[in-house]
Amino acid sequence: MSTKAHNNSHDTRDMSPAEKQQVHINRMDRPPYSQPDTPFKPRHEGSCFCGAVKFQISRERPLEAKFCHCHGCQLLHGAPFQWAAIFHKDDVRFTAGREQLVYWSSSEVSQEYVLPCKVSCGTCRSPIMDEGRNMLLLFPTLVHFEDARQRRVFQPRRAMDVPDGLPKWTEHKDASELMPETVGEKRGAVDGEV
Ligand SMILES: [Zn+2]
Ligand SMILES: [Zn+2]
Repeated sequence: MSTKAHNNSHDTRDMSPAEKQQVHINRMDRPPYSQPDTPFKPRHEGSCFCGAVKFQISRERPLEAKFCHCHGCQLLHGAPFQWAAIFHKDDVRFTAGREQLVYWSSSEVSQEYVLPCKVSCGTCRSPIMDEGRNMLLLFPTLVHFEDARQRRVFQPRRAMDVPDGLPKWTEHKDASELMPETVGEKRGAVDGEV
């Protein structure tokens, strides 16, 4: 299992601090930060609040999409839940602002670029994406997708009910339990009926 991890130069889990620093330095040479000459057909465009960061997406629809209600997403987004759309790294290219992106690795408790990490605009601080070791979780609020809805996860942590008929997981998809919809159930202080 760890053989694959060691062969993947993007996997920073078991790297020394010097090796992690090299990953940081080399990030502009790899998708989604690199700017190769290979053909790229943009199908969607997105930008942060201030417009300093702009990007294009070549895939018509995300590989998957999710709403995450975990406490970490609530804190980091200042929102009741996170909406994320999953893409391959080479589905996305930055057209502006890639040099001034800022990073947060919650596992390393660090602002260094260490995967996985959260990527935000360095000017307005809009969250742009969660960059994993192999995939991107891009925030579709920055772009327009016809239908990126698929499921809701970490339901017990939810700050509000969204009775939309989507599958509701107690934690991660397929690794936890499905919950019923909670239409009309009173949830005390967060109920909104002040
Ligand atoms: Zn911005
Ligand atoms: Zn989450």
